[in-house]
Amino acid sequence: MTVLRSGSATNVGSVRSVNEDRSLETVSLFAVADGMGGHVGGEVAASIAIETLEAGFARSSTLDGLVAAIQAANSAVWERGADDPDLRGMGTTVVATALVATADGDRLIVANVGDSRAYRFSANALSQLSVDHSVAEELLARGELSEAEAAVHPHRHILTRVLGIVADVEVDVWEVVPLEGDRYLLCSDGLSNDVADDVMAGVLSSVRDPQAAADTLVALALEAGGSDNITAVVVDVLVGETAAGADEAGTEVPSDLTGAVPVVGAEPGSGVVRSGAEVGPSETAGADQAPKGRKRKGPRRITFRVLLFLILLGGLAYGAWYVIKVYVGDSYYVGLQKNELVIFQGRPGGFLGMEPTIVDHTGVKTAQVGSIVLPALRAGVQEPTRTAATRYVTRLVTAECSLVNPPPTCPPTTTTTTLPVPTTTAGGL
Ligand code: MN
Repeated sequence: MTVLRSGSATNVGSVRSVNEDRSLETVSLFAVADGMGGHVGGEVAASIAIETLEAGFARSSTLDGLVAAIQAANSAVWERGADDPDLRGMGTTVVATALVATADGDRLIVANVGDSRAYRFSANALSQLSVDHSVAEELLARGELSEAEAAVHPHRHILTRVLGIVADVEVDVWEVVPLEGDRYLLCSDGLSNDVADDVMAGVLSSVRDPQAAADTLVALALEAGGSDNITAVVVDVLVGETAAGADEAGTEVPSDLTGAVPVVGAEPGSGVVRSGAEVGPSETAGADQAPKGRKRKGPRRITFRVLLFLILLGGLAYGAWYVIKVYVGDSYYVGLQKNELVIFQGRPGGFLGMEPTIVDHTGVKTAQVGSIVLPALRAGVQEPTRTAATRYVTRLVTAECSLVNPPPTCPPTTTTTTLPVPTTTAGGL
């Protein structure tokens, strides 16, 4: 007979206007969901997930029941998001721990999707049980990045798995033996990003009451900046399995599986990946491996809100580029190509990589215009329109021509229409 006692706390933080974290405490099921998605999406996603999880686990209070409940939560968020344009794209993390009865005795099942975490405080040591579904963790797990590289990876805070974004979700699961005196902490990244592991361990070792411990942890995250919503659920094992039973269970599974990447015993098609259970005083060595170096302070992970911002930013950049393109495309100048006057579209010398293009070979040679204008032509004489550029060339030719010929011979110096003066007029002289 296992007896648990819990406490929880949440705070909107110092920066956000809305708390999109949700938590759950019942006698046998505890959870934290960190919702995301613009507008009201995050709150809705987290609430739906928690409600669906609770209802599902109530129907089937087993490991498989918990996994099914999380998958049902995924479907519920997904379907609601598909139905409502205001909620499209919403999602949520979830981390849960549930007490279940098995043939071998009581067990705690820890399950997660996303980067909300489950920690265990046992034998005065804190270990992270869950593995974040973030880009950095996945690359680390695959050995493609070192801890140092992962810490600065540009996509380190992007989540690779959340509830509600795709129709089916894989749930990672750990099974552990509840030992008397052990404490479990479930939290959103608002806590784990802002409060170091050793500080969390200090609170869990010194604040006996789970409610007071949860309050203290949240207060510390607020003090550290409170850049995100903060939620903590502390679950104490008041009465647990006997040490004998625990040792027995512990001998069955290599101790290094707890907290490791859950690739053990994948059940094809079930979406469930189980990791080993290991317990007892001997476990602390194995448990210690998991969280080491995992603590990365700094920028929070990229949520959908941030992605949306980046998309908007991209849109603005495109808009700016488009305006420049129009600006450049609306510009004309008269310049020289070899000894011919030509009309360019664009800016002399190009602008932001957009090279001017020749839109008209006037047929007018440099010999037909005054030598005094040649330096200006070499640099490019800007005109507001293509018509104006053509008119400018005509004026140059007429002015030069008039110097040596009687008026009727030369083209008129002014045109009464806005149509381009045929360039052959000058060339035909
Ligand atoms: Mn968060």
